[in-house]
Amino acid sequence: MSDKLDALRAEVPDAQVITDPDVLDSYRRDQTPVVTPGDPLCVVIARSTADVAATLAWAQRHAVPVVPRGGGTGLAGGATATDGCVVLSTARMTEILEVDAANEIAVAEAGVVNADLDRAAAAHGLMYSPDPSSYEISTIGGNLATNAGGLRCVKYGVTRDSVLGLEVVLAGGRLLRTGRRTVKGVTGYDLTSLFVGSEGTLGVITSATLRLRPRPDIYPTTVAAGFPGFAAAARAATAIIAARVRPSLLELMDSATLRAIDEWKHTGFGAGVQALLIGQDDSDSARQGAGRMRELCLAEGATMAEVSGTEAESRQLLDLRRLAYPAVERLGIGLVEDVCVPRTRLPDMVARIERAAQRHGVFIATVAHAGDGNLHPVFVFDRGLPEVPQPVWAAADEVFRAALELGGTLTGEHGVGMVKRRWLADELGAESMAVHQAIKSALDPAGILNPGKGL
Ligand SMILES: Cc1cc2nc3c(=O)[nH]c(=O)nc-3n(C[C@H](O)[C@H](O)[C@H](O)COP(=O)(O)OP(=O)(O)OC[C@H]3O[C@@H](n4cnc5c(N)ncnc54)[C@H](O)[C@@H]3O)c2cc1C
Repeated sequence: MSDKLDALRAEVPDAQVITDPDVLDSYRRDQTPVVTPGDPLCVVIARSTADVAATLAWAQRHAVPVVPRGGGTGLAGGATATDGCVVLSTARMTEILEVDAANEIAVAEAGVVNADLDRAAAAHGLMYSPDPSSYEISTIGGNLATNAGGLRCVKYGVTRDSVLGLEVVLAGGRLLRTGRRTVKGVTGYDLTSLFVGSEGTLGVITSATLRLRPRPDIYPTTVAAGFPGFAAAARAATAIIAARVRPSLLELMDSATLRAIDEWKHTGFGAGVQALLIGQDDSDSARQGAGRMRELCLAEGATMAEVSGTEAESRQLLDLRRLAYPAVERLGIGLVEDVCVPRTRLPDMVARIERAAQRHGVFIATVAHAGDGNLHPVFVFDRGLPEVPQPVWAAADEVFRAALELGGTLTGEHGVGMVKRRWLADELGAESMAVHQAIKSALDPAGILNPGKGL
């Protein structure tokens, strides 16, 4: 064993190779509480592409599984350690290599934190638009590997819509460059898209050429609408999209989430309303857009709908939305799910979640990126229980199947990871599964890249 590790240390002199059990323990899991991690052999903290390449070459020679890791904020168990693996962290590869403002492009290493890149873009009047709620703690590499979404994605698209090219280290240590710096380009297969959302199973991303967008020069106008029920709020979200209003954000929270936030932060929301819809418009006609959203909310039965012009009020509402997960987590262990349905089916999906909660006697608190039809039902259970109770899995199973029946998908942005593997074939079907397997075998014949995740 120590020969193997000595060889690794010799091959990655600039990287940190960690075997201290306490440190290893902190790298065993990501933010997914419902999976059982294995015991890693070591953690490699890479500082450069060369470190990543040397680690993958060593791993192939010694048949050691590799678990790529960014910020460790994943919610599908994608960065969970497996027995005897090397956890390969790109979190210290934090250089923003270039901001080319004239071409609206940035080149960033995989460990750059999402919000740091956005701040660097802001200095040039630009923005990096994909903004997962974890934007202050998750990395570009992890965002790319999960094709992360976020609050602004309803208008500006998900991570895939902002990537032009990648530098990837393949199994065995070979270096691949995909894509280009141009906004158009169709030479060859779209390998960039293949790696986006591949959850560390096809290669390790070391840097990316990313698309920036002009930063809106006004602060968005916000509308907050309270509803007597979750279904009415979902209908309002559907109506807003159908009316061709183009919100820059459209977020929904149910009563369980609002109560959890209120119990913690005494916000006042949650007492009078059963659901809260927050919309924003950052266009030149923002007040008009927000006004239209307000009208549509009132038409669907909103009991209050207020347009706020000031930055402070808008920020308060967004802070409320960002408190959703930590507030619900205070109630117990939360299995955070991530189904996505066509936006016209949002009210049906809300009804199916409520039915699953009732049928299985499970407490579910739901937030949604409503403008994308992407719902996060959080299945909460007692902290003291040794494992996920059977009714929670039964309710989750019902919710996943409902999403597929409604023409949706198991995961809008968190990935398959370890959590959703058993439902994967139900969505993909036999032919697609076979193509996935063929791609995996071509790129990782020894099966050492993030085994047990995704496929
Ligand atoms: C409070 C909170 C809010 C969140 N909100 C959102 C949200 O709004 N939208 C959203 O999409 N997600 C959200 N997430 C989930 C999570 O933040 C995202 O999935 C994020 O993209 C993960 O990035 P990370 O750097 O933490 O990656 P990790 O969790 O470390 O890894 C995620 C996956 O990517 C792989 N990976 C990591 N780095 C690389 C690399 N360099 N090369 C290849 N593979 C790699 C890992 O193996 C793993 O499969 C949230 C999580 C939390 C805790």
